[in-house]
Amino acid sequence: MSIHDPHLTVRPVRAFADNYIWLIDSPRRPGFVVAVDPGEAAPVLEELRRSGASLAAILLTHHHPDHIGGVAELLRHAAGAAPIPVIGPEDARIPTLTRAVHAECLELPDLGLSFETLPIPGHTLSHIAFWGHGALFCGDTLFSAGCGRMFEGTPIQMNASLNTLRALPPETRVFCGHEYTAANLRFALAVEPLNGAALEYQGSVQRLRAAGEPSLPSTLGLEIQVNPFLRCDQAVVARSAEAHAGKRLDGPAEVFGVLRAWKDGFR
Ligand SMILES: [Zn+2]
Repeated sequence: MSIHDPHLTVRPVRAFADNYIWLIDSPRRPGFVVAVDPGEAAPVLEELRRSGASLAAILLTHHHPDHIGGVAELLRHAAGAAPIPVIGPEDARIPTLTRAVHAECLELPDLGLSFETLPIPGHTLSHIAFWGHGALFCGDTLFSAGCGRMFEGTPIQMNASLNTLRALPPETRVFCGHEYTAANLRFALAVEPLNGAALEYQGSVQRLRAAGEPSLPSTLGLEIQVNPFLRCDQAVVARSAEAHAGKRLDGPAEVFGVLRAWKDGFR
């Protein structure tokens, strides 16, 4: 299965219980792919064998083992071929990194790819996203209808990071690190029971998942309509967070903090 856009073809590779490793086909070098967040090597190697493709580069959004755990084995497998750059945030917890990026334009000219790298702290402090060709690879910061847990950052940092992503063009395709959409929508509808776009999206996600298909990619335009964590400035979301907290909240970052804590305990 492939997801086509005018510039990029991106394939999901499933890993662990609900991770996606995204394989981006090089628009310039047919048969070469870039892997985003390969937490496991085996399913990537299987897809490379199946499709006859070769790995040309690895992009990493953050240091968690379910996003970087397959890198060393993929590099061992490719030994002898051209060296494979491993590109991600500067972080001592990513020992396999060969090139650190922060806020810059990452050019991979041989592959015909270029991405803006966006620092988006919150889930982890060094978390980055890759944005280019109308696609966003955002790891565990933005999920469809939800967002990642704040393991290292503060609500102010995480809310600012989500605002950075929200400001990208609405047609941007959103490639997240996990298939959490259905569970996230249950929470989104607890926050906003009358959100018609979220109700409609829940129906289409249920159909896709029943057919064994990923719910991703989403689009930013859709996320802005359905994702409560991108809607902290909306009065209806603020009222719901205030009702949950039992007190007045002062601005979107406080609303975000209440929503994130509410979701942490939500079943
Ligand atoms: Zn993570």
